[in-house]
Amino acid sequence: MKCITVTRTIDAFEVVQNAILRLTVDNFSQGKSREQLIDEHKRLDNFCDKKKYVVHNINKQENLTLNFQLRISISNLKVNNVPTGRFLLCRVISKFVKLFALLALVEDPEGNVERLALYNWTKEAFKVVFSNEAFGTMISNTLGDSCAEELTTCVTRKLFEEPYYCPEVYQLYNGLNLSRNEKNEIIRKNSIHIELIIQALMHNGVGLNYDKFNLKTKITGSGLWTLPSFLNHACIDENVYNFFLGDLLFIRTNRPISKGEELIINYRDATFSYEERLSYLKYMNIDCQCRMCKLERSESQEIKLRMAQLLKAYHESIFPKVSKSHRVEPSHIKELEYIIAELRSLRKEHPDLGFNTIELSNTLAFAYLGIGNSKKALSILKEVYDLYKTVRESEIRIIILDIIIINSKLKLFEEAKKWEFARQVWSELCRVMHEHVIKRPALGNLENVLLGNGP
Ligand SMILES: [Zn+2]
Ligand SMILES: [Zn+2]
Repeated sequence: MKCITVTRTIDAFEVVQNAILRLTVDNFSQGKSREQLIDEHKRLDNFCDKKKYVVHNINKQENLTLNFQLRISISNLKVNNVPTGRFLLCRVISKFVKLFALLALVEDPEGNVERLALYNWTKEAFKVVFSNEAFGTMISNTLGDSCAEELTTCVTRKLFEEPYYCPEVYQLYNGLNLSRNEKNEIIRKNSIHIELIIQALMHNGVGLNYDKFNLKTKITGSGLWTLPSFLNHACIDENVYNFFLGDLLFIRTNRPISKGEELIINYRDATFSYEERLSYLKYMNIDCQCRMCKLERSESQEIKLRMAQLLKAYHESIFPKVSKSHRVEPSHIKELEYIIAELRSLRKEHPDLGFNTIELSNTLAFAYLGIGNSKKALSILKEVYDLYKTVRESEIRIIILDIIIINSKLKLFEEAKKWEFARQVWSELCRVMHEHVIKRPALGNLENVLLGNGP
């Protein structure tokens, strides 16, 4: 269900999520009765995600002694007051409802009932400007820029009103040739230093988008979150990613993180060429030392040229022939295989960094499928999966989907199911799936199979 208004398309899902987020984030000390809370909680059930979730046991804290003198009651919890060293004893009195958070009601021994929301990690914005609020702008293509400008104005205004926030912003930028003493002086006085604000925002402002939730909203924006600003960048091998919901920034890991390991995020991934990344990273004052940048810096001019030639040959001569024609000729397949082998050999020392061949291999797989050799198609895709699964997560999701599609076409439903751990990223998958079904109309009943309506 969608409601069209003048400035935006609101997705019903988004409305529900936002409403529930407000319910859980805004007012937890509103003194509602046990019955009221239980009623409310039951109503949430209609909107919840019905899949089964498991709450894993959190590492036991061995030396934690629960001294009952240190117990705190729900009624003593206060906003902006972290009762360090105290503990809360409560029991869960409702079932868990999974929305973006896991929600449940808890009750302490005094009978106080409160709503508990479990998130991985969230951080409210220092300041956010949404595109529909940016002064004088309507939704347009250039709104990213106007939001960033507006954000600078809004942050400056906030600092005029609440100067004690100055250090939080000023810590985010160390350029400007200010000596330590000068900077300390600015911070001590909480004085408005426009240049420092502009630079802090230029380097740390984040563009909002709601793609991760597949929200149809045209709203974008720009925001500042101070703590996540400290995450460093790498073009590949990042271990966290972010996404947004309203003005909340979520950070999630994309693989297990060992104790003491630095959290690394990706602001410009390696789908951008080295030159494109470099100009962006230079602007952000980032001197990237990731494996990809190191490799690309070390590659000779000849290698770069050869790579560009091969990719050009693929895009201009092979791809149009292989993708458009109904009957793929064996000679085209040969040519494509040659190009892929050549490209891989140019990076043979770093096999997992040869991911500029993913798209080509995918085309190759579908060319084989076109001539009826689905076994070969599957083996090509599985090879791609094995080679690049750790470095190119988003493209690999498409590969997984292709594997599921082909297996389903072959009626190998058990095998297809094995690849369905991609279900974890369900909404993403649906989005990609729709793109795919549109691009490759021949591939039939996938949706039914995936949605469990299949055999
Ligand atoms: Zn890099
Ligand atoms: Zn292409």
